[in-house]
Amino acid sequence: MKHELVKPDITVIGGGLAGVCAAISAARLGQQVALVQNRPVLGGNSSSEVRVWVCGATAHGINRYARETGIMGELFVENQYRNPEGNPYLWDLIILEAVRTESNISLYLNTDVHEVEATGDGDERMITSVTGWMMGSERKIRFESQIYLDCTGDGLVGFLAGAKFALGREARSEYGEEWAPEVADEITLGSTLLFYTKDAGAPVRYIPPSFAKDITQTSIPIRRVIRSGDSGCHYWWIEWGGEHDTVHDNELIRDELWSVIYGIWDYIKNSGKFDADNMTLEWIGSLPGKREYRRFTGDYVLTQNDIISQREFPDAVAFGGWSIDLHPPQGMYAEASGSKHMHADGVYHVPFRSLYSANVRNMLMAGRDISASHVAFGTTRVMATCAVIGEAAGTGAALCAAMGVSPRELYARHLAVLQQTLLRQDASIIGVRSHDELDLARRAKVTASSTLTGIALEQPGETYPLGTDVALLLPVHPVLSGLELLLDASSDTALTVELWDTGRKENYVPHSLQVTANVNVTTGTAQWVKLPLEWRPEEPQNAFIIIRSNKAVSLYHSTEAHSGVLIFFKTEENHVSKNLEDHATDQPVVLWSMQGLARQPFCCRTLSETTAYSPENTVNGYHRPYGGPQQWMSQPMQSGQPEWVQLTWEEPQSLAELHLTFNDDVNEDLVNLHHHHTTFRVMPELVRNYRVEMLSQSGEWLEIISAAENRKRKVIHTLDTPVYSQALRVNMDATNGSKYAELIEIRAYGEGTR
Ligand SMILES: Cc1cc2nc3c(=O)[nH]c(=O)nc-3n(C[C@H](O)[C@H](O)[C@H](O)COP(=O)(O)OP(=O)(O)OC[C@H]3O[C@@H](n4cnc5c(N)ncnc54)[C@H](O)[C@@H]3O)c2cc1C
Repeated sequence: MKHELVKPDITVIGGGLAGVCAAISAARLGQQVALVQNRPVLGGNSSSEVRVWVCGATAHGINRYARETGIMGELFVENQYRNPEGNPYLWDLIILEAVRTESNISLYLNTDVHEVEATGDGDERMITSVTGWMMGSERKIRFESQIYLDCTGDGLVGFLAGAKFALGREARSEYGEEWAPEVADEITLGSTLLFYTKDAGAPVRYIPPSFAKDITQTSIPIRRVIRSGDSGCHYWWIEWGGEHDTVHDNELIRDELWSVIYGIWDYIKNSGKFDADNMTLEWIGSLPGKREYRRFTGDYVLTQNDIISQREFPDAVAFGGWSIDLHPPQGMYAEASGSKHMHADGVYHVPFRSLYSANVRNMLMAGRDISASHVAFGTTRVMATCAVIGEAAGTGAALCAAMGVSPRELYARHLAVLQQTLLRQDASIIGVRSHDELDLARRAKVTASSTLTGIALEQPGETYPLGTDVALLLPVHPVLSGLELLLDASSDTALTVELWDTGRKENYVPHSLQVTANVNVTTGTAQWVKLPLEWRPEEPQNAFIIIRSNKAVSLYHSTEAHSGVLIFFKTEENHVSKNLEDHATDQPVVLWSMQGLARQPFCCRTLSETTAYSPENTVNGYHRPYGGPQQWMSQPMQSGQPEWVQLTWEEPQSLAELHLTFNDDVNEDLVNLHHHHTTFRVMPELVRNYRVEMLSQSGEWLEIISAAENRKRKVIHTLDTPVYSQALRVNMDATNGSKYAELIEIRAYGEGTR
């Protein structure tokens, strides 16, 4: 047996997505990080050991333009390229490689931390060390750091350090939450084991073990959805333990879950109700996926009301968008639906004060153990949200270590540094702009080879019968003076259209009616019909244009997607069984659905010019859609001709580093495992081949960067030797499929200013 002492700047305990993103972000900021994970693989509940699919703010396509950027965004995009089929082992590799790429991270797998030393009285605790046991290696390793991050999910480290925490459900009166129970209790969400099945190609017999549960004696066959061929997270509802202690009763809970899995499989194979002769079990989880345990108390406790009102926080550092998703205490045995869902009208904000302990001065937390009420935890718990919270906490930890301050001091004195650092890393803080003084691009004049000045989707694909209300969302920058729609009318009719604003710039639902028009349409096919919608909002924003149902009319889908343009249909039907998911259909993001309609806008053309795609957007400080696309878009590219964006300064600049952010369509709902499949490996809008040139003193353009086969959203080019130039040009030669060149952001830094 060996005793070891390591002294990294930061120790991150827990290698789920929160811990992984925390460690990567801190390491990228130059801190030495120990990432300590008690399993042989990274990823926590998303790993091949548990196999929960990673959900986030898109809420499986319910929220618009809501996919995460930053480190989680990188993982999604990389997985889509290397593992579009959703193989769980390949997902493990993607996470492992992302960690191993960071030379500042020392990774300790199989290392269980269960000793913590801390000093100070109850309100001023300081962790001085954590100690872990590396299983299989007989190594006892003590970690001494300035800052610690508890990303363990269960919150053991903070608990041992004396951090304040909550466990169970708060009473309604505590935070005034509609979905909290009248009386506080210790109920949590339960734990789950998943299983995979496959078709063996020949009959396979199944003899259940003696402990398999006869599920026909339970409400499961009636109240839940069992289908032969389902695998993995389709069975998320095999949940139990919410009325137990999900940590101390973990073994009991695992045995109950196993008995039910083997019983469900007996029911599928041997009840005669399923076509499952050739089906066999491929994998069965043995490590219960835990949903909930301790939630640390920070300087702010996020609540249901913050989520649903989309409360803006001065210290916002991350965002989420999954519904508040709570499950009945009895889990799979409940008569009630497996889950109930309350949605905000769009994404919500997470404050930094919820990411550090109120009483342990050098501890931050990320993941499912952050400072949130039980009800708010119902949404922050999904993994892409845990991951962006991890990036924010890791960034905060790195700044604390670099500046020698506590997280609370960082909040009080250096909040802008934290937010601006996150934005520079491509993390998203909704509605917060970059105002990085060191970014030279912000002082440049921006011009482009061409700019799209109107929206014209003129290539018709399939027709869409207007049997229900539909909507078209597009940017109005600064004015809309009419819109044409391509449609068929089977008889003369009057079409009603309404233009609504969306309320907040991060929302994509109708909020206030601005203009209504009734348009007479004569019988005919493929006719362009003018809608007299005139609108000049006080500031540029999106219009949500509702086209009321009309049985005589069919619209046309466009064969191509268009950045900044979305469509919706109004539906009061749940697309998932109510036994599993209960979403009240009058919630605007549910009522106005884009399920199945992403990337297929309706054929339309605006009758006024727009500045929504102007090249100045590349330096305006936003790097994701917000009241408009916030990007540059060229006219359709001509074969062999690059499109470019140019920065020109009044005086020559010394340039050492260039950041380019391309469009990876944050509306596309990517997922790591098998929930659904995105058909392309690389986002078509991403620029594939590009070159950067500088203007020499003699007036020639000299190439300084050349990139081919790009498939990333954010690319940072550090020049071997800084260049001195008055102008830079990014020439975009080819995309990954789109006919437009698109660029979201350019940043330029001088030497020593990054
Ligand atoms: C069955 C199930 C279905 C779910 N459905 C979804 C879904 O569809 N999509 C979604 O996004 N989310 C879903 N969730 C929620 C989500 O999985 C969790 O909230 C999320 O995994 C929390 O992330 P985390 O990084 O905080 O913790 P975890 O994923 O739990 O990771 C924490 C890691 O820390 C390690 N660890 C713990 N203690 C120690 C220690 N003392 N020393 C060292 N390492 C330690 C653990 O082994 C684990 O690997 C589901 C959860 C479950 C269980």
